[in-house]
Amino acid sequence: MAESTQAPYGRKTQKAPAVKEIHILWMPDALGCEGDTVSTTAATQPSIEDILMGAIPGLPKVHLHNRILDFSQGGEDYLKVWYDAAEGRLEAPFVFIVEGSIPNEKIKSEGYWAAMGTNAKTGQPITVTEWIDHLAPRALAVVAAGTCAAYGGIHAMAGNPTGCMGLADYLGWSWRSHAGVPIVNVPGCPVQPDNMTETLLYLLYQAAGLAPMIPLDKELRPTWLFGKTVHEGCDRGSYYEQADFAHEYGSPKCLVRLGCWGPVVNCNVTKRGWMNGLGGCPNVGGICIGCTMPGFPDKFMPFMDEPPGGVLSSSLIGMYGKIIRRLRAITNTTLNHEPKWRHAGPDLTTGYHP
Ligand code: SF4
Ligand code: SF4
Ligand code: SF4
Repeated sequence: MAESTQAPYGRKTQKAPAVKEIHILWMPDALGCEGDTVSTTAATQPSIEDILMGAIPGLPKVHLHNRILDFSQGGEDYLKVWYDAAEGRLEAPFVFIVEGSIPNEKIKSEGYWAAMGTNAKTGQPITVTEWIDHLAPRALAVVAAGTCAAYGGIHAMAGNPTGCMGLADYLGWSWRSHAGVPIVNVPGCPVQPDNMTETLLYLLYQAAGLAPMIPLDKELRPTWLFGKTVHEGCDRGSYYEQADFAHEYGSPKCLVRLGCWGPVVNCNVTKRGWMNGLGGCPNVGGICIGCTMPGFPDKFMPFMDEPPGGVLSSSLIGMYGKIIRRLRAITNTTLNHEPKWRHAGPDLTTGYHP
């Protein structure tokens, strides 16, 4: 079928963007589990397909290169665009996404921690850090997908042998792309799908000249996605407020005594849901373990123990909660009875006076 008949209606009727084509080079080859790529396939607001198929007005044409999602699955065909980008031969600009923790290749005498492709001259693997060194200076924007790439995450726990770190620890927290864009961190283990695609959408609009500089907090997270806590969006907040705590899983009550860190964790999944608006850890019975946070996982362990701050705050709220619950129960009983004038007797007792 010809390209013109395949193009979605939106692309045919919208004004052409300032940048006509753009590449997304997504490297899931750092120390990780590829969970962020897999998670992003569940996005719906927007979906990857919406971005790639031109269903969203005003976007450049987007070419996505990610070996997990690519038909060529990481072969030499797939790598060509990466070599071209690293050597400045790509004609269109590109956004560079890193997934996984960045290993410290300086701390060992031989071998490598993480690599993608082979150097044709030396026959040696091309390390992830070499790719970052070559691609970051040429990229329009650099994005860390998931907590590993953002802050180090699970692989950067105390006692790890790789000395791994987040992208900003590697490039520097004040690093800027040649277009002046700071590193953009989209943490989560894995990343919440729509948070990832929405951030990409923002950057694509920015590249197209249709959005101002992406707003980021000091941890380099998009402010509109990470400005609130889990607790502030949690379905179970009303149980917390009246000190009604779950003591076992399966209860609909607040999970703080089971180890939920929601009151002090920046994450929007309780508002946004996980997939297509559904889910979001505490909403569906899972404690928040702080997987979006720079201090994850060490500062949240041991998981499933009540957070120290939770012990204090849930105790303080305990007395108030007990009284409030009793008063509410009395009022609730009153409100569950119809007014006494609603009856089938022969007299009108509503208080009506003609
Ligand atoms: Fe996997 Fe979590 Fe690391 Fe993403 S952040 S690569 S999901 S371990
Ligand atoms: Fe807050 Fe967690 Fe309780 Fe939800 S379950 S109200 S996030 S402490
Ligand atoms: Fe991670 Fe907590 Fe958000 Fe769940 S609610 S995704 S555990 S930060």
